[in-house]
Amino acid sequence: MNHHLLPIDEIYQLLDTTPNGISPDTVEERLAQYGKNELPGKKKISILKLILNQFKNVMIFILLFASVISFIIGEPEDAAVILFILLINAVIGFFQEYKAEKVLDALKKLTALNSTIRRQGEIIQVAAIQIVPGDIIILETGMVVPADVRLIEVHGLKIGEASLTGESSAVSKNIKEIKDAAIPLGDRLNMAYKSTVVISGRGEAVVVATGINTEIGRIAQLLQEDDSQTPLQIRLADFAKRLSIGVFFICLILFGVGILRGEDPMRMLLTSISVAVAAIPEALPAVVTIALALGAKRMVRHHALVRKLTAVESLGSVTFICSDKTGTITQNKMTVTDIWLKPGMETIVEFSDWEMLLLAMELNHDVLENESHQLQGDPTEVAMVEYVRQQKKYNPHWIADFKRVQEVPFDSERKRMSTVFPFKDRWLVVTKGAEESVLAICIDPDLAAVSSAAETYAAEGKRVLAFAFKVITALPAVISGDDLEKDMHFVGLVAMIDPPREEATQAISDCYSAGIFPVMITGDHPLTARFIATQTGIIRNASDKVITGAELNTLSQEEFEKQIEYIRVYARVSPEQKLKIVKTLQKKGHFVAMTGDGVNDAPALNRANIGIAMGITGTDVSKEAAHMILLDDNFATIMLAVREGRRIYDNILKFIKYIMTSNTGEIWTIFLAPLIGLPLPLLPIHILWVNLITDGLPGLAFAYEPAEINILNRKPRKPEEGIFSRGLGVHIIWVGLLMGAVCVAAQAWAMNVGNEKWQTMVFTILSMSQMGHALAIRSSRRSLFQQGIFKNKVLIGAILITLLLQMVAIYLPFMQQIFSTQALSLWELAFCFVVSSIVFWAVEFEKLMKRSKITI
Ligand code: ATP
Repeated sequence: MNHHLLPIDEIYQLLDTTPNGISPDTVEERLAQYGKNELPGKKKISILKLILNQFKNVMIFILLFASVISFIIGEPEDAAVILFILLINAVIGFFQEYKAEKVLDALKKLTALNSTIRRQGEIIQVAAIQIVPGDIIILETGMVVPADVRLIEVHGLKIGEASLTGESSAVSKNIKEIKDAAIPLGDRLNMAYKSTVVISGRGEAVVVATGINTEIGRIAQLLQEDDSQTPLQIRLADFAKRLSIGVFFICLILFGVGILRGEDPMRMLLTSISVAVAAIPEALPAVVTIALALGAKRMVRHHALVRKLTAVESLGSVTFICSDKTGTITQNKMTVTDIWLKPGMETIVEFSDWEMLLLAMELNHDVLENESHQLQGDPTEVAMVEYVRQQKKYNPHWIADFKRVQEVPFDSERKRMSTVFPFKDRWLVVTKGAEESVLAICIDPDLAAVSSAAETYAAEGKRVLAFAFKVITALPAVISGDDLEKDMHFVGLVAMIDPPREEATQAISDCYSAGIFPVMITGDHPLTARFIATQTGIIRNASDKVITGAELNTLSQEEFEKQIEYIRVYARVSPEQKLKIVKTLQKKGHFVAMTGDGVNDAPALNRANIGIAMGITGTDVSKEAAHMILLDDNFATIMLAVREGRRIYDNILKFIKYIMTSNTGEIWTIFLAPLIGLPLPLLPIHILWVNLITDGLPGLAFAYEPAEINILNRKPRKPEEGIFSRGLGVHIIWVGLLMGAVCVAAQAWAMNVGNEKWQTMVFTILSMSQMGHALAIRSSRRSLFQQGIFKNKVLIGAILITLLLQMVAIYLPFMQQIFSTQALSLWELAFCFVVSSIVFWAVEFEKLMKRSKITI
């Protein structure tokens, strides 16, 4: 449809709407008619596909092969058991993936964007996918345009349309009708299109097309979704591949040695295959995804919403957190505390000094009053309006008397905003902003006293707004900051206090003890920033520096690199400088988390190792660029997320430690026995069974392990640090060997004393020792008893179920037949328990050594 060509009234008619919006009653009908406002994304993976996926696994083919061989060599029960194990493996795999998909799906829904629209005259927030043609939508700076719209009101509205037209500079929009039918998309200035972004200004528009009927919907029938893997997932997938090759050779050797020793080739083949199945940690990638996804889900409870799973993992490596001040470290609850007036206003305009300041305050804001008379908008402005309206001199008629006709919106570059009103055949221009920014456009002589007053307020941690005005006879041809904001008269200052958040001080102290440097980046005055930074503990030493954006510009890159690690506060910076800060920190080898809320913050958020957007005050653009969103805009939430990220990574490592050690133990058991002249200790189905019952449940339960006590007292993990560093590789080898040795020693002893149940005993010891190991590695330093035996109830439950399954395999007559097991006497069972606990005690001893090393 050529919505850009029609007169606006025709559009209202066509879409059965008015400037007040549609009636909410027609929404369902419209949704049914036009569909949801969403683009066809990646096809959702169906349950059937998920099930079939389980059978694409090489492991499954190996098992199938093993089952066929069992059948051929005349052991149909074995063949059936292997098939059963294969099925269980697939079921577990299915549930793991299903759960991960579900959690990720839920997260995706949470990160969906909202839009502000008007329906039946009422301003409401709805999910962008619920928007229908005919809706009236409010466009604000930083928003992603949610549908194709025809503009009906614009104030300095500029839209970035690169995603649609490829044009990199922002386009100024207007509401004029267009006559030329063939005009290309990029020139349809009275329209805005889905997926483009509002770079500045604001406006209102009527939705003309949604979902696949939009321009972008037509071009991109299939949008590529980002489902890239995290570095850890990639590393593990790569590791699993290399491990498989290694395992293949180990099994080949095992097979060769067995044949040379005169074992039955078919039995040897089956044993080798079982070892291969046992050794390859097939559950690893799925468990890592689950751990990350479950972690992300938990983080939502702490108000940190993860948009990209990589963030969960990278949180543990953060060395610098660069945070905004207002609202993140402070409460964003402002109260006006001081007023400073410039005398002599009557000589310029007919208002008194005090009245002129009140009028300027009343006329220069975007605060809205909702039906219940609550003020809504930027907290700085809300505080200002609240203050004005309490004053005796405030005149309620001002709102009706002064109708705003033009404005130049606030932006963090200029640090001021201006509004224009008709005023007795002339025009009144009112400007407010940061003190330097407003003074720079004033023509009054002798304004030195203003600066010193502003500095006094700033040094007390207050935010200062300066006000100026002018009366002109004609408006400039183009309403822009440059043309309008000059030759003004200074009116006065308003100072307001925004106290630090209560939890900020603790979070900042946690930050330092976790080896992370907190840095404040703010548009506010350097003295205000210094005060808050000192109060919250960001500035602790004389060497901690405060620098302004202007100073930063004069520093050479080399000099900046030298100083950057000492700078704790950047004040009066522009959003572009944030990018410079991130890049320079990264150049110095740091891993940077950076917060942001505005459109201009997007490049820095994108570039940061973890870009963090604000959930409440953040723009859509910043949210889309971020890896994580703080739902409560709170600095302390970042530290909670860091803690959670470290915990999740720890638990993934624990899982790897557990599963790899268990697998190594199984290999050693099979390998060692023949080496010392004993028969093969286990049947192939024993190996498969142990692998099945010990890997799945207890492995997953590590995801529920609570954080270690010192989690925020250790240095960040180096991003390039290998999985097997910090002693993990060594642990896997020695504990695996010990596990094998314990099993084989028990076998040797039992055979020696003529106990014919030796195989059942080895079988039981192997699975029990793995349970002991699981308990011992819950903490990497503290003993199980310090850690609290029942602190991870899921793990305890998993261990009990696993032990129960093992008992079923050795005591149930039917299972005894299948597994060739015999019922152990109580004494024999106790023997197995004691022998297998050797592994537990050995690992506890390892931790004791680690702990005592620290105290020496
Ligand atoms: P932070 O980065 O810590 O969140 P900030 O985002 O509050 O800081 P800006 O919003 O860029 O910083 O504000 C910078 C300065 O601009 C403030 O110190 C204040 O003087 C002025 N200012 C803030 N809000 C407005 C506004 N709505 N209108 C005019 N001036 C404003």
